Amino acid sequence: MTICFLNIRQRFIGFSFLTLMLGLQSGLVYADNNSADVLIVGAGLSGLSSAYYLKKAGKTVVILEMSPHVGGRIRTASYPDNAQAEIGLEEFWESNPALEILHELNVPLETSYTSFSSFYYQSKLYPFTHKSNLEFLQSVISDDEMDAYKKWDKKMTELYKQLEIRPLAGNLLALKEISFADWIHETSGLSVKTQEFVRIETEPEYATSWQQISALDGIAEWHFFSGKGQSPYHVVGGNQRAAQAIADFVGNDNIGLNQLVTHIKSTDTGVEITTTDMGTFQQQVYRAKYAITTVPLFRLNDIQFNPPLSSDRKEAIRTQLGGAYFTAHVLVDNKARHYWTAKGESLLPILSDGPLGVIYEGKSEANKDAVLNLLVTGIHAERFNARANGLEDDQKALLEAFEKQWPGFGSSVKQMTFYRYHPRAIASWPVGRSRFDSLSDSLRLPQGRIYFAGDFTEDTHSNGASTSAIRVVDDVLKQKQ
Ligand SMILES: Cc1cc2nc3c(=O)[nH]c(=O)nc-3n(C[C@H](O)[C@H](O)[C@H](O)COP(=O)(O)OP(=O)(O)OC[C@H]3O[C@@H](n4cnc5c(N)ncnc54)[C@H](O)[C@@H]3O)c2cc1C
Repeated sequence: MTICFLNIRQRFIGFSFLTLMLGLQSGLVYADNNSADVLIVGAGLSGLSSAYYLKKAGKTVVILEMSPHVGGRIRTASYPDNAQAEIGLEEFWESNPALEILHELNVPLETSYTSFSSFYYQSKLYPFTHKSNLEFLQSVISDDEMDAYKKWDKKMTELYKQLEIRPLAGNLLALKEISFADWIHETSGLSVKTQEFVRIETEPEYATSWQQISALDGIAEWHFFSGKGQSPYHVVGGNQRAAQAIADFVGNDNIGLNQLVTHIKSTDTGVEITTTDMGTFQQQVYRAKYAITTVPLFRLNDIQFNPPLSSDRKEAIRTQLGGAYFTAHVLVDNKARHYWTAKGESLLPILSDGPLGVIYEGKSEANKDAVLNLLVTGIHAERFNARANGLEDDQKALLEAFEKQWPGFGSSVKQMTFYRYHPRAIASWPVGRSRFDSLSDSLRLPQGRIYFAGDFTEDTHSNGASTSAIRVVDDVLKQKQ
């Protein structure tokens, strides 16, 4: 009996040791609380919104996020004297479904202007001090130019409506083969000045040149500006509060931070996701019935999918390029406010059409230092992001641009802080590709039990993050019924 007991014990110890060894070899830890109805990769707007809708539908979720914070590209920086500026998302467009969530969660929102902004053209400032988009434009161009603009804008609105009809009409789809710029030059009937106005107002949205995007996507972009235009909304106290409010609703216990997702496996009965903890480098395995990935386009290739991503999805990812953003927060002496105000009213945001990008005003206390937020886009952002010659060079380039625009302003600048993004951080599709083409359609379909969301699956803006969340949650809920 004694021997038998020892044998059983020895076998048990042997089994535990083997398990431990396998555990050490593979580094895998399976925990009971790692399962849910749906696993969501990424705690940006898309992942958080997906979790919000699923939780409201009574499903359990676990969000796996590689960084130590929620929000993804929604981040707010704080400075001394309660100054604040957005590092990422500046404003939610009026049509963004995220606003409904924020209303439901009682997140305070503010808006103060319409979609057109003050802008510089050929070194002259056109200040937006008007009540509406059209009133502002009327102050920029002549009556004849305005008549042509109204006709063109009406046509753009009609074309935009046709984008809702799927499949797209062949003549509309053909517009992915010509650049937005060339199409406007050749067909719009707009004066050169009005064309330039369209370029300056829209380029910051897709964060690249209008030569780089198609007429088809240009039509989609223009709808933020057409007619009376959409109002942009900002969260009182910083946009990061929006992300935190949704995370609180989802339950912070359901969000695993510092969890880098490395493998996503889909089987007939469920999904298995492997993460590496970014602090301890311990692997963990999570299981669920479905997975939703919301990782940005340029990070999808970092994840090992099993089975591998289909060839059309790979092609969609490979050929969708993207726009570039770079952010600089500029702390400025209070006395410098006169540079961007007229009759006590702020003229910001101002589209500089140069290396300063879009100049937004951060939040600061009256009579204290002000903070300007430069949202640099396109080739200028590419140059700053590359940081070829060090930060001093970027600082010098920005100060020179300021001096050209606002002579004497440089002496008021106290500090600059820079935030760079991946070169393809902003969704946009090059000429020949479009968010409406069949490759983009393939990204919107699930692969087995894995669903693909994130801004780049739908739109250049956070509208895409929100609408993609609605799409994937709809699809998942249909499956479960
Ligand atoms: C400077 C800047 C200004 C902008 N301004 C505006 C604006 O004014 N209006 C507007 O509508 N849009 C704006 N945008 C775009 C907007 O911020 C994005 O469209 C939106 O936030 C994207 O949300 P998302 O959830 O799709 O992606 P993300 O916010 O990028 O979230 C994806 C998340 O996935 C995580 N992740 C990635 N890989 C992994 C992995 N392997 N494992 C685990 N987690 C992973 C990331 O850390 C991230 O948190 C701006 C973007 C930038 C950069």
